Amino acid sequence: MALVNENYLKLSGSYLFSEIARRVNQFKADNPEADIIRLGIGDVTRPLSPAVIEAMHKGVAEMGSAETFRGYGPEQGYPFLIEKIIENDFTPRGVELSVDEVFVSDGAKSDTANFQELFGADNIMAVTDPVYPVYVDSNVMAGRTGTFNIEKGQYGKIIYLPCTEQNGMKPSLPETRVDMIYLCFPNNPTGMTLSKEELKQWVDYARKNRSIILFDAAYEAFIREEGVPHSIFEIEGAREVAVEFRSFSKTAGFTGTRCAYTIVPKEVNVYDSKGEAHSLNQLWLRRQTTKFNGASYPVQAGAVAVFSEEGKQQIKETIDYYMENARIIREGLQEAGYTIFGGVNAPYVWMKTPNDMGSWEFFDKLMNDAYVVGTPGAGFGANGEGYFRLTAFGTRENTLKAIERIKRSSSK
Ligand code: PLP
Repeated sequence: MALVNENYLKLSGSYLFSEIARRVNQFKADNPEADIIRLGIGDVTRPLSPAVIEAMHKGVAEMGSAETFRGYGPEQGYPFLIEKIIENDFTPRGVELSVDEVFVSDGAKSDTANFQELFGADNIMAVTDPVYPVYVDSNVMAGRTGTFNIEKGQYGKIIYLPCTEQNGMKPSLPETRVDMIYLCFPNNPTGMTLSKEELKQWVDYARKNRSIILFDAAYEAFIREEGVPHSIFEIEGAREVAVEFRSFSKTAGFTGTRCAYTIVPKEVNVYDSKGEAHSLNQLWLRRQTTKFNGASYPVQAGAVAVFSEEGKQQIKETIDYYMENARIIREGLQEAGYTIFGGVNAPYVWMKTPNDMGSWEFFDKLMNDAYVVGTPGAGFGANGEGYFRLTAFGTRENTLKAIERIKRSSSK
């Protein structure tokens, strides 16, 4: 008899987006004429840029000729892409990285979910609350979180760092020692960022406690304001205590194409029971070479075009387009009297539900009154209750229409 991995049985409820899909499908069946606008799931709507498409076509053509065909590539990614990543995303910000500190992959979701494998089962982990659910669920699967307390909406062994209206959606340092800390800035779902000084407090905490910060910078390309750090490695000392996850998904429309990368500096160590240090970089290399065979060549050939002159210009236009949507959402909701966060340096606007309404209740109300679908904050953690997320990744037309409808329904 094959036994189940019991940790999987500890996963709480149905996945957020399947519950949303269930409610939307039910609503559509009951109201077939309703023209629903989805500003819920964080997928993009703009196509890949022409420079990327051209480079991918070329990459595919190379695969069709014996002289240029490529089989298995390096598990860590092709040096032609890694060099451009360093040159464009890090060197101009004063961050020095070597080629073997960058690991190209097929997504930040898989990297953020897989990275926890390198840590002992007894490590204490901290997440912000609300949080991108992948950090929590991947640790549940690994047996690091204890069981789910339905009343609290939290796992017993996770340290939750509340992000609330009171602290302006900026988490406080843990009161007790933690070993692994997941931070995501610009944040999904709140759309908020940390300043360099604020991020430095986390780096200092991690250095003092020999903790590791798992920093998710999937949305760094959306930062508009000067002075907001794009990488945790802009902070002094971060190379000793942090790894960073990045993705082409939102930056360049690669959600369906799949390409991302993770930075693991050589100085970051984890310790065995005798207190001996082990390089996280070497462990991740070992993990990736064992379990991953690299992102596909045409995809990496496309990703490198993101850093060409045309590519940069085209991608900037797309990001400007989404950030104009963010402005429309932000200002529209403010005019309608809502309290909102984010949307300045991130493609997400986090709104407080009116009259302390529950976030699923508000989801149903907005779908019924305005035919607009967003994401209930409760799906991101107990402290997301009473909040609602709208994304700027829709089309301009739908974004304008959705905000007009929300304004109209809230003035009723
Ligand atoms: N990290 C965060 C915070 C995200 O919101 C997402 C996607 O929504 C990801 C990672 C996943 O990125 P990828 O498409 O590279 O797997």
